[in-house]
Amino acid sequence: MEFIALGETDDVAASCHFLNIEGTGIVLDAGVDPRTDGPASLPRFDIIHGHRERYVDHAIVTHAHHDHIGSLPVLIREFPHLLVHMTDATKRLIEFLLPASARLQERKLYDGETEHEPLFTEEELSFQSHIYLTHALGADFDVTGTLGNSKIKARFYTAGHILGSVGVELRFVEDGKDRRVFYTSDTNMRPQSIIPGAEYPDSTDVLILESTLANDEEAEQTNRDKETQRFRKTVKEVMARGGTALIPVFVMGRAQETLALIDEMKEDGVIDEDIPVYTAGSMRAVADLYDKTRQTTPRLDSEFKVFGVDQRRMPRSEDAKDDALDGPCIVVASSGMMFEPTLSNRIGRRIVENERDAILLVGYSKEDTASARLQEAAKNGKGTEVVLHEATGPQPVNCTVDRFRFSGHSNRRDLLRVVDSMEPESVVLVHGEPDARQWMHDQIKASHPEIDVYLPAGGEVLNL
Ligand SMILES: [Zn+2]
Ligand SMILES: [Zn+2]
Repeated sequence: MEFIALGETDDVAASCHFLNIEGTGIVLDAGVDPRTDGPASLPRFDIIHGHRERYVDHAIVTHAHHDHIGSLPVLIREFPHLLVHMTDATKRLIEFLLPASARLQERKLYDGETEHEPLFTEEELSFQSHIYLTHALGADFDVTGTLGNSKIKARFYTAGHILGSVGVELRFVEDGKDRRVFYTSDTNMRPQSIIPGAEYPDSTDVLILESTLANDEEAEQTNRDKETQRFRKTVKEVMARGGTALIPVFVMGRAQETLALIDEMKEDGVIDEDIPVYTAGSMRAVADLYDKTRQTTPRLDSEFKVFGVDQRRMPRSEDAKDDALDGPCIVVASSGMMFEPTLSNRIGRRIVENERDAILLVGYSKEDTASARLQEAAKNGKGTEVVLHEATGPQPVNCTVDRFRFSGHSNRRDLLRVVDSMEPESVVLVHGEPDARQWMHDQIKASHPEIDVYLPAGGEVLNL
């Protein structure tokens, strides 16, 4: 079996892996690198394109985050006979997210924010979705290629990361021996507020494992209950003093999970039931998909509806916003890292100087994004200045700023537990910074010296 990471593996970059199993070509995920745009954000399709022995028969998409789906339309264009496999929930999300991405790329070009043509168009997408095949969790499906020498069966396992997310198991015969590969993709072994934790097979031969949080010691030391208690206490205090609590979120997953948390707080009487909760933009469309699939995808409570949480649309006009933000209220707005043109950034700039208000971060902040700068400034004490937007310039941070760990990824102890319980003969570490993957490598080697551990670079060919 040949394995090639087509995207960079040393960070949360474009997730895209090529496997050649006995003549069948399979691509696992087809993402884009969120750190850049245009052709540079694509996986290295040139490594497989034009090689007869590296033809792609099947693509398997594990979940609808852009670092896993953003280059799918390009892959389909290059390999027009490709069949694409995913869960029904992922298909519904993709049919909404990829056209939105096409429109965004077009707008960026039009506004002069990029010089790159969009990677794909809305029209192109409308011809593609008929080749998306959906499969239920636990059901076998065939991914044997036209030139494949061995029958290959695939099966999805819930990954606990976001709606519709799965890990995938491949089973086949190689050199007369039964073999299995398991790709975790992004994984969370523990329940969130809406989505239960991952459930994986008991064992495998080759484990392709993510390592996002593997150099994050803090993530391993906190737990969801502790963070939830802290979050509830902080929101309660801000509401009691009549403040606005802004919660910047990622549109998919974190937004819906946060609303579930707020709902529990109201139900338990931690905050007043009448406190208005504002949401906006595409997180409302994603919430609708969460609700529509609540009986058919893994849930902690299949009765819970995101739109069952009383919420108002954030008004567009500035005056109406002022009215909305006057008095205790909660605003759940994207983007999670408070990127400059987004609503969370605009509202952040309005409230950052007010002592009674709060900005509560519930997701990951990349270096030098507005949310990271805000955390840095807050650490240096009240009144420290921060630039959330160049047009506004430096502003003193007077509001409460806090960060809560509600990650959709497994902490590093849980990742190691996956290795312990599946007892693979080899582990391929992807989707993590160099330190993170090295840490995982060293830990696995220390407790299981017999396991081969690989840290492939982007484009490197592994024979497993
Ligand atoms: Zn993800
Ligand atoms: Zn990812």
